[in-house]
Amino acid sequence: MTESLHKSIGQELMLIDGQWVGADSGEFLPVENPAKKGTEAGQVPRAGKAEVDRAVLAAQNAFPAWRDMPARERGKAMLKIADALEAQVEDFARLYTLETGNAIATQSRGETMLTADMFRYFGGVASEIKGEVVPLGETLLSYSRREPLGVVAGIIPWNAPLALGALKITMALVPGNTLVLKPSVEAPLTAIKLARLCAEFLPPGVLNVVTGKGSECGQALLDHPGIAKLSFTGSTEVGQRIMQAAAERIIPVSLELGGKSPQIVFPDANDDETVQGVINAMRFIRQGQSCTAGSRLFLHASIYDDFLGRLTEKLKGLKIGDPFDETTQMGAIVNRNQYETVCGYIGETLKLPGANAVIGGMPPETGPLSEGYFVEPTIFSGVDNEWRITKEEVFGPVLTVIPWEDETEAIQMSNDTHYGLSAFIFTRDISKGLKTAQAVESGFVQVNQGLGIVPGQSYGGFKQSGIGREWSLEGMLESFTRRKSITVNLAY
Ligand code: NAD
Repeated sequence: MTESLHKSIGQELMLIDGQWVGADSGEFLPVENPAKKGTEAGQVPRAGKAEVDRAVLAAQNAFPAWRDMPARERGKAMLKIADALEAQVEDFARLYTLETGNAIATQSRGETMLTADMFRYFGGVASEIKGEVVPLGETLLSYSRREPLGVVAGIIPWNAPLALGALKITMALVPGNTLVLKPSVEAPLTAIKLARLCAEFLPPGVLNVVTGKGSECGQALLDHPGIAKLSFTGSTEVGQRIMQAAAERIIPVSLELGGKSPQIVFPDANDDETVQGVINAMRFIRQGQSCTAGSRLFLHASIYDDFLGRLTEKLKGLKIGDPFDETTQMGAIVNRNQYETVCGYIGETLKLPGANAVIGGMPPETGPLSEGYFVEPTIFSGVDNEWRITKEEVFGPVLTVIPWEDETEAIQMSNDTHYGLSAFIFTRDISKGLKTAQAVESGFVQVNQGLGIVPGQSYGGFKQSGIGREWSLEGMLESFTRRKSITVNLAY
């Protein structure tokens, strides 16, 4: 079947060695349209070991020439991709909305712009892949250089496939590695569209994309002896398997994993600006489907009722529904599985003594919202910091709230988790804010705002939220290059 025929029936293909191909078996896997239950956004090939083998071989073959190209030239390719992407924001945002259920106005366009910014940032720092000279004396020239690792496997989740796909592409390719990217089968279409755009500016084999199930296609990538580095973003559970696979062959691994991040609100921050900051940090407009979501709110007891009242009122005004509607602020949960998981947590918590859904709860069973995987913003008060709802990553629009009186207690409760990804602190007393920022065990902390990561900020988790840093020049150097030390005897 020709490529255009596949396209005409909603089937996307994989990029291997510059060619657009299906799986050997001819099988495709469906991608759900989460805003309309029972409909598809498209289909992608169900690849396994054979296709992964070919993709890794293509990346191996492309590696020497790509590695030897001046870094600035590789950077230029990224800058061209940034320009081309910016010219197509609307197309990308529409596909992104279709496959993820995110609202086009509040999320999809923004992530597309962030993605272009990522290509521009990493393209710009390409010439900073430098080494150092060690002053060992006038007769010795001792220097280090940064070299690429070889073929990188980039495995990404469904929740931000465009930004995270771009992150793996830029950070791997700019220092001279080649890449086999595996998007999640739950949301692979925009990542493939991005690969189509990138392929216009890259030699064949430098970027390859394979699609399929984690247990088949993903596992084949992990086990492939030609992979020199595993860069994984996803759940802590799968992250553990990734690390085991890396240990088998002693290859470097970076893990960007889950989170259950705290938000601490001090009594002097009882105002509408903080309410908005808390809503932003909880990522309600992404249906809470963000690793950095501040899903545990610790509110000072003296402002507890008032602040919670303001927060609830503000959330009541959030418009949920058709993600293509320009007035919609919050879209659908990505698929049935995730929807059922989120509903499971809500249903279980509703039955616990003392738990109170201040807003939200189980999703409506009738009306327009029942036609997709829509879950309203939900806040639980009366919870215990030991319950599943406060301990486990729900990855949905569910916030728990717990009062505190003493700062030490707030910090202790915030840190009482095996995760350590982000934290949000709100106070007008900047020294208190900074002391708390230093005390929280999280890799990404914000004081007095609830925004996301910006390219250039070194980002990664503490504890079981991950290993390694990405998103920045330092992260790229640390995670995607290796240092070689060379010494020359000039007196020879
Ligand atoms: P997931 O761990 O289930 O899947 C992530 C990727 O791993 C997918 O591509 C999947 O197909 C693949 N995979 C699954 N099993 C595999 C295996 N055995 N071998 C190789 N690959 C395999 O995560 P998800 O449900 O797609 O995404 C949600 C999770 O991602 C959340 O825990 C969230 O916190 C996390 N996340 C973390 C960050 C971060 O930067 N720290 C960013 C986004 C998402």
